[in-house]
Amino acid sequence: MNNSDFSRRSLLKLAAALPVASGAALLNAAEPQPKILPFNKFTDQEEIAYGDQWAANYNNHVSIINVKILTDYINSLVGKLSKVSMRPNMPYRALVVNSAVVNAYSFMGGHVWVNRGLLENITNEADLAAVVGHEIGHVVGHHSANLVAAIIEAQGLWNKLKQSGATQNAQVQAIIQQLAPLIKIAQMKYSRDNEFEADMHGFYEVLRSNYDPNGFIRVFELLQKISGDPGSVWQRLQASHPPAADRLARVRQEMTQVQMPSHPTTDSLSFKAMKLALRALPPAPKSDN
Ligand SMILES: [Zn+2]
Repeated sequence: MNNSDFSRRSLLKLAAALPVASGAALLNAAEPQPKILPFNKFTDQEEIAYGDQWAANYNNHVSIINVKILTDYINSLVGKLSKVSMRPNMPYRALVVNSAVVNAYSFMGGHVWVNRGLLENITNEADLAAVVGHEIGHVVGHHSANLVAAIIEAQGLWNKLKQSGATQNAQVQAIIQQLAPLIKIAQMKYSRDNEFEADMHGFYEVLRSNYDPNGFIRVFELLQKISGDPGSVWQRLQASHPPAADRLARVRQEMTQVQMPSHPTTDSLSFKAMKLALRALPPAPKSDN
């Protein structure tokens, strides 16, 4: 083999590699790294134990729908998305709340609640994956753990919490009772940056699960429509939630920076079965609790 032969071959090799290289070059964006704030001293185990205790209290105050097909469906979707999240090892668990309000929320330790009103208003699985991905994104971003940690820090309660070893439920429970009113407020006060971060974590979970990321666009359009409804939670949360239009613009921008799936999933048979099961239920109450 002479030199010119070699370089010609190298060029051919390079040319063959180019489509891959340019494909990779399209990936200009990346999922943001979660920010654990300095005063957040929770270990993962403590976050889980604390989140579990808090969720057990909270679940006594909301009406949970115990219909296996609904609970299994939402847990399977949460499982699929969380497995490809930046925090795959949290014990994610989801519940369906019997409320007509279009909403979903989450709490530290991997708890996700999806209101029946959301399931009723959403029209395909990719759109639901966008909402659920966003909620998982709050757990990935340590958002509620950071907020609760700030309150614990301010109240000087770290020692008490750490001494309880996170496993002595009675003591964790006592701290939670003490903090409950503050946390109820904190839960509503995710910063606008937290919301954008949760969108981005959710976006990449959706992308890696091969769901259609356009689900985000459709959900933001739904939110824009609903925020005109005076009874809507989204209206009440407008101060902390960035306008849907801004969130939509950011996700659209991200879409131009990544390799979008060529054959994305939008629907599933289990989504349709979930919709049928919803129709068999008596009407939902008009409020969260
Ligand atoms: Zn959010």
